[in-house]
Amino acid sequence: MAADHEIGCDDCFDELHEFAELELAGKSPAEAKPLVKDHLDKCGSCREEYQALLEALQAIENGK
Ligand SMILES: [Zn+2]
Repeated sequence: MAADHEIGCDDCFDELHEFAELELAGKSPAEAKPLVKDHLDKCGSCREEYQALLEALQAIENGK
């Protein structure tokens, strides 16, 4: 198990959607979910996943 101050890819993935929605809402996901931010800084594959998710959500927003 990961230490308290660090999350793994699975935990990160669970939070990713919410993190992206905060970002798109113009809030501060890094403040709301510092552990996710921390993981994204360290983990290239989650960062790619996050970028893809962000783009997908933006496409949905724009399609409204
Ligand atoms: Zn990861």
